[in-house]
Amino acid sequence: MDDVNKKEMLDRFSTFEKRFTELQEDFGSLKKYLVQLVEENHQLAHENHHLKQRIEALQHDQREQKGLKDKTESNQPIGEGYDNLARIYEEGFHICHVYFGTPREEEDCMFCLKFFG
Ligand SMILES: [Zn+2]
Repeated sequence: MDDVNKKEMLDRFSTFEKRFTELQEDFGSLKKYLVQLVEENHQLAHENHHLKQRIEALQHDQREQKGLKDKTESNQPIGEGYDNLARIYEEGFHICHVYFGTPREEEDCMFCLKFFG
């Protein structure tokens, strides 16, 4: 093998090595992105599930109120709706108007706490 060929081979090899490194980096960031997407998807599914439950509870409350309205003009029963919100809060979701329905992390939220009085 003459010197020209050797040099060409070395050049090609280092080009290949560079591409390989770039591919590895691309792959790494794609993988990171995928993990983020999976986590985000999981969180959204969780949030969605709770919001659906919340809507069902609200619809349930509304139906009950409609039923009661015919009989009496008295105050709506605050018990059940209040309990639902307290439970949602305990399960780690905001019930305040500021962050309603979003995950609460570990800390208490002062807006939510206001709701409990
Ligand atoms: Zn809150």
